Amino acid sequence: MTTSNALAVDASLGGVSARELAETYGTPLFVVDLDELDLEIHRFTEACAPRGITVGYAGKAFLCAAFAEHLAATPLRLDVCSLGELVTAERGGFPAGRMYFHGCGKTDEELRAIVDGRVAFSVIDNREELERLAAIASRNADPIEVMLRVNTGIEAHTHAFIRTGGENTKFGIPLGHLGETFARIAELPRLRLIGLHSHMGSQISEIAPYVANVDELLAAAQTATALGLPVEELICGGGIAVEEGPGDARPLDLDALAAALAERAAGRGVRLAVEPGRALVARAGSSLYRVMAVKTQGRRRFVVVDGGLTDNPRPILYGARHVPEVLTARALGPDEPATMTGRSCENDEMGDYVLPRDLAAGDLVAMRNTGAYTYSMASNYNRFGRPPVVFVRDGHHRRVVRGESADDVTRLDVV
Ligand SMILES: *Cc1c(COP(=O)(O)O)cnc(C)c1O
Repeated sequence: MTTSNALAVDASLGGVSARELAETYGTPLFVVDLDELDLEIHRFTEACAPRGITVGYAGKAFLCAAFAEHLAATPLRLDVCSLGELVTAERGGFPAGRMYFHGCGKTDEELRAIVDGRVAFSVIDNREELERLAAIASRNADPIEVMLRVNTGIEAHTHAFIRTGGENTKFGIPLGHLGETFARIAELPRLRLIGLHSHMGSQISEIAPYVANVDELLAAAQTATALGLPVEELICGGGIAVEEGPGDARPLDLDALAAALAERAAGRGVRLAVEPGRALVARAGSSLYRVMAVKTQGRRRFVVVDGGLTDNPRPILYGARHVPEVLTARALGPDEPATMTGRSCENDEMGDYVLPRDLAAGDLVAMRNTGAYTYSMASNYNRFGRPPVVFVRDGHHRRVVRGESADDVTRLDVV
């Protein structure tokens, strides 16, 4: 499949010329458009708030201190799943009362942070964690508020879902073990169950699995209530699919999703919440690269850019596609097939596209919609430094994460 680069010349990201960004910060560069981000936050709150659905952001999609600071000024909650994410959010001044902790293998240090009140509540994934949290909380005067991650057995794929009986993923407590887990929580005076949670997966483009999932959560809430544990809130997870590039159709109607969820829970005495990551941040992010070489080998034309696997492992990990846009200010010839590839010592292809015939070394190319799981998954493979992160808005730009130098990359080495 190919995609034509729609954008022509002297293009901008968030109103800032790509050339200015590249000259100021260098490439590769991770660019977050705050206007685009705020638009997505607004879309979620518009669809959810009037229906009583709380929106949380899954921090693993992208997080840095300045991003947490930006989110702190919105109504969103924040889901963190490591001490690193928690400290990042704290450095951005994100309030503890709107944070909660996820993860299926929380360390003692993380459990202590939960007990110390650095988040509002924690989502318990398994029985071992339940016992360890209870032990750490036993020294606490006040009870710790917890939710339970339920494995509802619903596996959502892009265009379908199946009920698996819960054995097929590692996350949460399967339905068959809920009764005994509730009974155990009831015995632990320092833990107070406030809700149930289920996240099915990622890039879900249909409403039906969400409905099936919330129905299972509602049934589980009834079981808990019958055992004397009234449940206040159900978190229906994230996973809302996004399109590959600007201009593509949106895969899922947010308003219809919120309406469907609210309808199922109406009159059941529980609040609902969702926790998207990708759908909030994907469209706001772009990865800006400079072309290093263009070479035709065999029947293929390769465009080598100065980033790749280390700053965006998603194309290799998942076959993810991002739409490239050529941003250089000069007349560019007709389009021809080209394979975008990175500069790492791997075949780090980033997809087959259609790019201008006279694309050459020095030209700027942006991969669009890379806001989610791109910078957050970046590595130091090949001992490349991770790129800087820049916020753009309304023609202004601001660096919020420094790029890593060779000194940064070697700072932990002991000789
Ligand atoms: C990853 C994750 C999310 C967010 O998923 P997206 O696909 O980015 O929306 C939400 N909740 C949990 C528990 C997750 O692990």
